[in-house]
Amino acid sequence: MNSRDLPHWDLSNVYPSLESQAFKEAVNEMKAGLDDLDDYLTEQTIEQGGDVPEGNPPALAETISGYLNRTNALRRLHGTLQAYVYAFVSTDSYNTSARRLLSQLEALKVRLERQEVQFRGWIGTVAEQPELFEAALEVEGPAEQHAFYLRERAEQSRYLMSPAEESLAAELSLSGSRAWERLQGVVTSQVTVPFERDGEVEELPIAALQNLRSDPDPELRRRAYEAELAAWERKREPLAACLNGVKGTVSTLNERRGREDCLDRPLDQARMDRETLEAMLSVVEDGLPAFHRYFKKKAERLGKEKLAWWDLYAPVSESEKRYTFPEAKELILETFGTFSDRLQALARRAFEQRWIDAQPRDGKRGGAFCMGVPGVEESRILCNFDGSFGQLSTLAHELGHAYHNECRIGKTMLQRPTPMTLAETASILAQTLVTNAVLDEAGDPEEELAILESYLIDGGQVVVDIYSRYLFEKAVFKQRSDAELSADDFCDLMVEAQREAYGDGLDPRHLHRYMWAWKPHYYSPNRSFYNFPYTFGMLFGLGLYAIYQERGDAFLPAYDDLLSSTGEARSAELAARFGIDIRDRGFWEHSMGLIEERIERYLTL
Ligand SMILES: [Zn+2]
Repeated sequence: MNSRDLPHWDLSNVYPSLESQAFKEAVNEMKAGLDDLDDYLTEQTIEQGGDVPEGNPPALAETISGYLNRTNALRRLHGTLQAYVYAFVSTDSYNTSARRLLSQLEALKVRLERQEVQFRGWIGTVAEQPELFEAALEVEGPAEQHAFYLRERAEQSRYLMSPAEESLAAELSLSGSRAWERLQGVVTSQVTVPFERDGEVEELPIAALQNLRSDPDPELRRRAYEAELAAWERKREPLAACLNGVKGTVSTLNERRGREDCLDRPLDQARMDRETLEAMLSVVEDGLPAFHRYFKKKAERLGKEKLAWWDLYAPVSESEKRYTFPEAKELILETFGTFSDRLQALARRAFEQRWIDAQPRDGKRGGAFCMGVPGVEESRILCNFDGSFGQLSTLAHELGHAYHNECRIGKTMLQRPTPMTLAETASILAQTLVTNAVLDEAGDPEEELAILESYLIDGGQVVVDIYSRYLFEKAVFKQRSDAELSADDFCDLMVEAQREAYGDGLDPRHLHRYMWAWKPHYYSPNRSFYNFPYTFGMLFGLGLYAIYQERGDAFLPAYDDLLSSTGEARSAELAARFGIDIRDRGFWEHSMGLIEERIERYLTL
């Protein structure tokens, strides 16, 4: 496959260019809107301890609605500008003018956040009169439509520092934690490594080097792994400083805001409770030995005594099918069509209207993501397509996210934000559809093996590797609250976490001590523990898929309804609509059982 033929995305329907008048006007509109909202907050004394219209629910509802309407419009505009500029930055980190614009937009986002904090403080004051607050939420209009959001804000207002401290923290985040996060992105995307292949030395971007993890040649995989570790070795000091900066800031703020521990906020963000997390993780722990058996069998298939890190992604059969991009497109469209016309139509638009950026290249970030562009109610998908089944299924995954965005059209920006736990539901389900379709069509055991392998590689990531990331992050927070960690400390904690999760399934001498260096998730100051929600998402998506198999087409309306309202209820409540109790181990065991069945099948092939 020639990677030159892969598509780049097109955002010209959003704005003509970064230099265009339309783009500049939109930025100015954003600034003017922020000024207007600031004035509104001042006029109405919307702040912690500010005026509350006593005994007048309609007046209170109107004041609240005034804020909601303004911030929703601004969030929509900001989301559009941000997605537009990020489309340039994420595919070309050398584009310094786009990077400068992104940081300007971040400053505007900080103003939005500051306004939100101010509003949250006031809603906390309002909620001190619960009867008045609840009565206002019953007055028809925006306040009533955002009742879930408003109650949650009131509840979260107890974790606020004083208004002045919150405002300073927001402003300092630009030159502090967010600057560390950006630096990690720039450093890692610009790492290139001279790598010899077929007698020629090529300068490979790190994403291309990481793609070699799935090459059939074991020597090549080992060399790529070693080259990657050596590359991180050279960048470890700036990256360790970034990680210390981010985790240090988060720890300080957690303490100042009265959070119980480092998990408190991520759990609230995931809209789940500790009981659910514990039920799920205990099922994960029980599921690890099955994965260890899979790793051992894989080692056997590769003719090795123990599996090394660089073999984790190795194909086990020589006949692994490759897909051209047009083939991947056809397969996805056909499979999605068996589920619903709406899903198929959405994917068709994504391919035909160039929503997808598939070509790996220097300066482009690794991995894959899907982002909504609210101004045009479309999505854009970034991936690094290499023709493997893994990349095919990643593409299906990201299209599932785009479908989720589609289901939320018509909701306001404050009704959309979905906790990470449920943000993966549509993507996992879409990915499962494609995996099953390919498995069903597999002609012979060899092909079935190749697909199962790819499926279990993914499953191993979401169940086993993510468990190691969870353990690592917990350990980092624990130590970071006392002092900074050295690069060696991070490496040691990483290896320890990997030993615990991978058990005797992997060769303990060849783990990946630099996983912390390149995974962007660890560097997000606003999103700690960007890991266990993935496991939740996968197991929840699988559980829903099982329900789809039982109920067939009858499943679809409730499913679309679930996706449209993922921003308007807690996880347990949304799950209960399908008769699922996520605090109960039983549900998780059922989903894990579906993966174990696949492992058992793999062991017999
Ligand atoms: Zn996803």
